[in-house]
Formats: sequence, C-alpha cells, structure tokens
Amino acid sequence: MLEQLTPRVWHLPFSQEQDRPSLGYIRGENFSLMVDGGNDPAHVQAYQKALLSAKFPLPHFAVLTHSHWDHCFGMSALDIPAIACAETYQSLRMVAAWSWTPEEMEKNIRKGALPSVCAPRIRWHFPEPEQIRVMLPAVIFSGQMTLDLGGCTCHLIHVPSPHSRDSVIVYVPEERMVFLGDAVYQELKDDVWTEHPDKLQGLMEALEPLDFSFGQPAHQKAMSKQDLLTWFQRRIEKTKP
Ligand SMILES: [Zn+2]
Repeated sequence: MLEQLTPRVWHLPFSQEQDRPSLGYIRGENFSLMVDGGNDPAHVQAYQKALLSAKFPLPHFAVLTHSHWDHCFGMSALDIPAIACAETYQSLRMVAAWSWTPEEMEKNIRKGALPSVCAPRIRWHFPEPEQIRVMLPAVIFSGQMTLDLGGCTCHLIHVPSPHSRDSVIVYVPEERMVFLGDAVYQELKDDVWTEHPDKLQGLMEALEPLDFSFGQPAHQKAMSKQDLLTWFQRRIEKTKP
C-alpha cells in the first residue's frame, strides 16, 4: 500500500523482515520518478501493484540511491531506464559481471567484496542465485543532475556519506522533502557497522543548506530536518575522544 508523504510524493514503505527499502514515487505533471529499484522482482511487482490500485501511471524513470543489492536487484523486473551516479554505475558493472554461482558467492565473501551477512539474505530472495540479473543504469551522471517532472523538480545529488562512496539523495524543493536512501547510515565494513564522522560531517554540510521539512531514509520512518541534524551531531560527538 502506498503512503502519501506530500501532495506529489508517495512511497511503498520499507519492510525490515523482507529487507525492503522504501521505494519512492514522485509524480510530476509530465513524468513520474521511482526512487530505488527494489531488492528483488517481487518487490518491484508489489510497487507496481500498489501504483495500479491507486490508479497512478507507472514511473518513467528510476533513480538508484546507491549500488547495494537491496536497492538494485529488482530492476530487472522494470523496463524503464535507471539513473545513477558514475560511482554506482561502476559498482554495478562489477556486480553484474559476477556469475552468482554458490562457489562464486563464497569467493566474493572471502575477498570481502560481498558482506557475509548479506549473502544468506540474497540467497533467501534468490534461491537460485544464478538467476540474478543486475540491470545496468542507462543514464549516468557525475555530481548532480536535475529532472523536471512538470511542476516538480528533482535534484539528484551525490553526497558524502558514511554508508557508501556512491550515495545519492533525491531532493524535491517544491515538496520540501528529500529521499535519503542509506546515506544516513554507517558503513557495513567486514560485517561490522562502522562510523565515519568526517563523512557524516560532509553529509550534514550537504543537507543543511537545503530547504526541506523532512527526509525519508530507506529503512526507517521519515525524520524532520532538525531531528536528522541532531542525530548526526550526536553521532559525531560520540566518536570524539
Ligand atoms: Zn546500503
């Protein structure tokens, strides 16, 4: 079921049990944009079903907030172009070239290329992992790109983030909201959640000048701008000796 966030913005809320991030939907007068590509084809189908039952047009493009599997492995079920920053494109090209046999998965875990905590979840979603098809984005940008959906603009901004080097946020100034993807979270490094205060500071500096009332992270409920900044500040303080 879609949840309305602002007059022009909806999302299919996240689900912790199913490893599903929030999937955004921004409806302009001419085009609509999907935010993130889903964790598997069933996730994308649930999103499409929710749009159909709301009598909304299917999105014309999708933007990927970063290259992690739960945000991208549903894209093969969509026949619309995906947009991503160059860093996400590079990572997905590498992942798309993997053969996804159980042996290859083990090898990638040993190399540290695939977090071992993610592997069982991927296997749960794809009992035959050889069937994983990673669709590559068709539109690649560096730094920042703007989409005019008609009466509604979307700024896709590559931001510093403790979570990943390729974090993109989607800022919708007319709606005073921002989709944050996983940019607000720590990095999963050698299976441990690891803080990077310098990058968190960078994210804070990227968000502060934007005029928005709330941000929607991918795996939790929306937060006000003030609560987000206070949360970041607290985390930065915690890392100080
Ligand atoms: Zn992530």
